[in-house]
Amino acid sequence: MKENINTNPTNKHQAKILWFRNNLRLHDNEALFKAQKLTEYLLPVYCIDPRQFEATKLGFPKMGSFRAGFLLETLHDLRKNLRSKGSDLVVRVGKPEEEIPFLADQVKATLVYSSHEIGTEELEVVEALELKLWRHQAFLELCWPGNLLETEELPFPFKATPNTFTEFRKSVEKDLPINELYPEPDTLPALPAGVVPGEIPCLKKLGLTSEDADDRAVLAFQGGEVAALARLHQYTWSQNLLKDYKETRNGLLGADYSTKFSPWLANGALSVRKIYYEIRSYEAQVVKNKSTWHLIFELLWREYFRLIARKYQNNIFLKGGIKGIEVSGLSSTRKKTFRRWMNGETGIPFIDANMRELKQTGFMSNRGRQNVASFLTKDLKINWIHGAMYFESQLIDYDVSSNWCNWNYVAGVGNDPREDRYFNILSQAKRYDGKGKYVKHWLPELKNVPDNKIHEVGKIKPQEQSQYGISLGANYPKPIV
Ligand SMILES: Cc1cc2nc3c(=O)[nH]c(=O)nc-3n(C[C@H](O)[C@H](O)[C@H](O)COP(=O)(O)OP(=O)(O)OC[C@H]3O[C@@H](n4cnc5c(N)ncnc54)[C@H](O)[C@@H]3O)c2cc1C
Repeated sequence: MKENINTNPTNKHQAKILWFRNNLRLHDNEALFKAQKLTEYLLPVYCIDPRQFEATKLGFPKMGSFRAGFLLETLHDLRKNLRSKGSDLVVRVGKPEEEIPFLADQVKATLVYSSHEIGTEELEVVEALELKLWRHQAFLELCWPGNLLETEELPFPFKATPNTFTEFRKSVEKDLPINELYPEPDTLPALPAGVVPGEIPCLKKLGLTSEDADDRAVLAFQGGEVAALARLHQYTWSQNLLKDYKETRNGLLGADYSTKFSPWLANGALSVRKIYYEIRSYEAQVVKNKSTWHLIFELLWREYFRLIARKYQNNIFLKGGIKGIEVSGLSSTRKKTFRRWMNGETGIPFIDANMRELKQTGFMSNRGRQNVASFLTKDLKINWIHGAMYFESQLIDYDVSSNWCNWNYVAGVGNDPREDRYFNILSQAKRYDGKGKYVKHWLPELKNVPDNKIHEVGKIKPQEQSQYGISLGANYPKPIV
């Protein structure tokens, strides 16, 4: 039930609203830093938008249980951190363009601070909200909390972002103009009296079922800034893994082959600039080598795709991608085949292992993502948009620009300067999982298959199959291609 605005004692006072979006942290948060200045009251709010949990045309929710669970954990953590500073997190389940003007009216706020987000739907929400706020004589001020580089500091207008990553990288890497971090406030202005903070719902209330944690997962990801900063500290300092990042980053098993920062980066529990300065500090104190540079290189990929998504806007979601080309021969109707890909039942062990990891944990390595995406579009010839939608639902680190621009890239409608790049799944499997350890980790039914046959189980003759405890077509599928 909505609160009664007429009886609210705070109407006399002016308050500011801080609308949290994908900036769910206290450290290095420009919107928070600006909003808490010179105000008696501050109302930090997060809107859980029901549109995010609706079913897609492919039958799965836009945001699945893993990402939603991670988000709810993040909100609990944020609330706790805000409370420790004398504030709170107001949570509403509803559309931001309805909830925020209502709250603005209630507390007589004329300024709402928030973050810019990338993506058509996100922009539509902002447009609708701005219009409603304007009618209430309130205004929205937006910051870019997820960027390494400020738009104004780029050596080109963002609409002229180069169409190849290499050109972009070369133009910015020599003298990276990275801003200092915004300091975290020691205390925060109180919440206006009379505002009910509201409960953070459980998954069930959002129409989702919680998934049991799978102990085979690379990491027991915990949402929130506290866990994010702990992972940053662990990866960089306490386990000293950064020095070998370049050599390990194509791994598939365990917590340590790559940083695993992406889920926290995606919802903003971790600032990308904080990572950058941590790398620079590590370089000064421990070692500056190819690995430390390579992590910055990967963060530049993320930055690049954010610019490309802003430059091409809605085109990143279209079949012809940012190239705007005519794409033929990609099916949108082979539902059974698509489901086999989704469920990890293609009969190609390297693909199935990756897809089962995604299905059971909400995460997959970068190497895995490239292979399964290529397999869907180039081997199964299925519309890449379906794959991107499934990733959006399933990945705990789903991020509009990283997901859709990477899919554009792999599907050949994006920024890949090479025409017709093709991943040979068998040679990728042999190169990155030579002994089949990863495959056996996710496909225990193949545990007795000898290493030299693990990636080609489809070729194992019927008389040999029982010797290895498999029966193709019964306890493991025959290859789909
Ligand atoms: C088809 C496809 C879809 C993808 N969807 C997403 C997504 O929704 N969200 C997401 O964060 N990443 C996505 N990626 C990129 C990449 O796979 C993940 O960022 C990475 O696997 C996350 O693990 P990590 O944090 O351990 O990465 P690390 O190897 O430790 O890299 C550090 C950081 O660099 C950035 N990064 C690395 N590679 C890329 C890349 N190719 N594109 C953009 N940023 C990169 C990420 O922020 C990452 O956290 C996708 C890649 C592909 C091929």
